[in-house]
Amino acid sequence: MKKIAILGSTGSIGTQALEVISHLKDDFKVELLSAYSNFDLLSQQVKKFKPKTIIFGDNSKSKILEKNLKQEKVNIIYGEDALNNFFKYSEVDIVLTALVGKSGLIPTINAINNNINIALANKETLVIAGDIIKKLCENNKVNIFPVDSEHSAIYQCLLGEKQKNIDKIILTASGGPFRGKSIGDLKYIKKEDALNHPNWDMGNKISIDSSTLMNKGLEVIEAKYLFNIDIDSIEVVIHPQSIIHSMVEFKDGSIKAQLGDPDMKLPIQFALGYPDRLRNNFKRFNFLKNNKLTFEKPCLKTFNNLKLAFQAGKKGGNSPCILNSSNEVVVEAFLKDKISYLDMTKLIEESLNKISYIATPNLEQLIETDLKTRSFINKKIKSL
Ligand code: NDP
Ligand code: MG
Repeated sequence: MKKIAILGSTGSIGTQALEVISHLKDDFKVELLSAYSNFDLLSQQVKKFKPKTIIFGDNSKSKILEKNLKQEKVNIIYGEDALNNFFKYSEVDIVLTALVGKSGLIPTINAINNNINIALANKETLVIAGDIIKKLCENNKVNIFPVDSEHSAIYQCLLGEKQKNIDKIILTASGGPFRGKSIGDLKYIKKEDALNHPNWDMGNKISIDSSTLMNKGLEVIEAKYLFNIDIDSIEVVIHPQSIIHSMVEFKDGSIKAQLGDPDMKLPIQFALGYPDRLRNNFKRFNFLKNNKLTFEKPCLKTFNNLKLAFQAGKKGGNSPCILNSSNEVVVEAFLKDKISYLDMTKLIEESLNKISYIATPNLEQLIETDLKTRSFINKKIKSL
């Protein structure tokens, strides 16, 4: 039985992971959960899954949380430092990092330093510090099992294959809610439209990222680090049905793909259960009922973010960190109606041009780059 920690258990990935675990009680035991603000849902999760420890971000809600959990034998810990060092409070075999944005970085690094395998949903962590994390994993013999559906697909396609035989990785993208639109069409987009993804039900940040194709851009960089592959050997193909989750093309021209209904529970289960494939009751894909799979080229003119991500990924150094930090700030500002939809990509491009480049940054320099970028973008937003 694997002992699991879920960081971000109240989010889209976190709740789906608990759904997976609820059907596989002989395989997984929840040891630790963390949430930031949703004390009601966290309380329900504690009652159902009986973790030894929970970590909660918002100290001001401690009284309500403790009242909710009066009857439970659970260790409640508060604050960021506890999250960064979650493994001190429970013994775990694998941690699912389902936190959003930069908040996943330090907990992931500390987990690797303590030899805990990672089921990685929090792609931003690899985008910010991919080189550092890869080295740490090698030194500590820690495995990262990707949860992102595209990277889970690639991981599965690469099982039993040699690195030298890979020609390219083909990342599929649904195209998001604005597929086929021109830049002019995007001028007056409201957050409600952008949050409405055609195929996936996800947290707010990744939903906006999917609509701007920044999510695919972050995934290109995530793939570079996860699979040790050059950015030039990664191609993005729009596949609106989201049935093929991604592909690998080999030296001999053969292409392997991984397919299934768009359901994050499958990659989550694969990452937690690896190397086993556990039986489940998820809906099965039916070719005869879904007999049309189509493919298109992404429009880099409308979706400038994807172009910026390819450039930042190729440049390396602290460029992916600048891309990610500026994106986190502009997405939050857009969600608060402070900037327009198209301001987002303009501001990201500006920060990539203005923040100083560092070719081989250490962790401190990346943290500094993140702070500088956030401050640069916040100033820009104020002056708009
Ligand atoms: P959500 O916004 O739904 O959930 C985020 C989780 O993190 C919540 O539990 C939230 O707690 C917690 N959280 C938020 N901010 C902080 C913070 N500052 N410190 C600590 N905890 C925090 O996100 P998703 O589940 O959609 O995404 C999680 C990660 O997985 C992202 O990196 C995303 O890119 C990636 N991913 C998501 C997919 C999806 O289908 N959703 C698919 C592939 C990847 P609370 O709710 O209590 O405030
Ligand atoms: Mg994905």
